[in-house]
Amino acid sequence: MRFPRSTDVFVIGGGPAGLAAALAARRRGLEVTLADAAIPPIDKACGEGIMPDGVQAARSLGLELDTVDGQPFRGIRFCESGVSVEAAFPEGNGLGLKRTTLHQMMVERAAEDGVRLLWGTRVTGIDQKGVFAADRLVGARWIVGADGGQSPVRRWAGLDSCVRDSRRFGFRRHYAVAGWGDFMEVHWGEACQLYITPIGAREVCVVLIGRDPQMRLDDALPQFPDVVRRLAGAAHGSAGPERGGVSASRRLKAVYRSNVALVGDASGSVDAVTGEGLCLLFQQAVALADAFVAEDLSRYQQAHRRIGRRPEFMADLMLLMDSRSRLRKRAMRALAGNPALFGRMLAMHIGEISPREFLTNSLALGWRMLTI
Ligand SMILES: Cc1cc2nc3c(=O)[nH]c(=O)nc-3n(C[C@H](O)[C@H](O)[C@H](O)COP(=O)(O)OP(=O)(O)OC[C@H]3O[C@@H](n4cnc5c(N)ncnc54)[C@H](O)[C@@H]3O)c2cc1C
Repeated sequence: MRFPRSTDVFVIGGGPAGLAAALAARRRGLEVTLADAAIPPIDKACGEGIMPDGVQAARSLGLELDTVDGQPFRGIRFCESGVSVEAAFPEGNGLGLKRTTLHQMMVERAAEDGVRLLWGTRVTGIDQKGVFAADRLVGARWIVGADGGQSPVRRWAGLDSCVRDSRRFGFRRHYAVAGWGDFMEVHWGEACQLYITPIGAREVCVVLIGRDPQMRLDDALPQFPDVVRRLAGAAHGSAGPERGGVSASRRLKAVYRSNVALVGDASGSVDAVTGEGLCLLFQQAVALADAFVAEDLSRYQQAHRRIGRRPEFMADLMLLMDSRSRLRKRAMRALAGNPALFGRMLAMHIGEISPREFLTNSLALGWRMLTI
């Protein structure tokens, strides 16, 4: 693909966020160029679970995720020390989808929609006029930093300042196991969680997430004998060995400056255990394209904050459960005794009930925890 002299939008990074931003901008009639240093399909450590609101948000970019080769799941199950509680989503299904399948689908859609795609192209800098890549300047009206959690664009644009910034570490492995069921599972251990997403009729994605960067899946698995039993004898799946990544809880003070805007993990993120990263970036992409059309990136700043509020709240709740073992055990017993409460928590998680209803729910949970 030839380099253009100029473009309406230059997207730096061709992971899910960059491709989503490119698709959304194309749908608003803008000319879009995207560059990524890597060559597709690009893999990454990810739990590979997309919540129903994420499947819905992808639709607004023209992505019918449930038509590709994934595995739908009906709800979420929390498990700890023999206690478990589960609930189905109030509406729609979640989807387990291999990262490489998602990426390939998004790349194909972007090519069909006329995004100019420059793979194997590292961007080395930006200025007011455009983007430096492969020793030349490409003029751009808008520049999008979709270059992931370590975002160089964020640094170049002076947007590194954070309101919050903490991190955990995630490791993913695929296992060839048939018939795991149709729930995504979160298994709570001491200072770590395993979460398991069915991604095919005969494959699951297992992610360990915790604060210790040295702890690997094989170190943590003995804490989860039920999981060990079900994985026994399963071959490691098609994605090869364990793959690691940083799960950041990061909120930036600002997600744009002048004509540069950040999207996806570059713009901040919620802890991976929420399974909301992809949903967030699909929603951000649509909001960003709207702001381009309005020629006003402050609108994107506002929308970005609004989109992130609920997942951040849920992430805080889950991280509280991670750090307080006694509180977690009480909460698990309370929820197991009244699964409808868990159902309402899940509905809040995917935006199906309002924070006010959720507050009523939280009070009910608190009361149950005091009285069990
Ligand atoms: C362990 C773990 C589990 C997770 N599980 C889930 C889950 O189950 N569900 C969910 O929804 N979310 C999950 N997430 C979050 C989700 O994976 C991220 O939110 C998502 O990958 C962010 O995508 P992105 O496009 O912003 O960044 P990335 O996927 O990191 O893409 C950034 C791209 O930018 C490119 N790039 C960087 N610098 C340059 C440069 N200078 N020039 C050109 N290209 C450049 C890179 O090559 C890369 O392709 C998980 C995250 C982790 C760490």
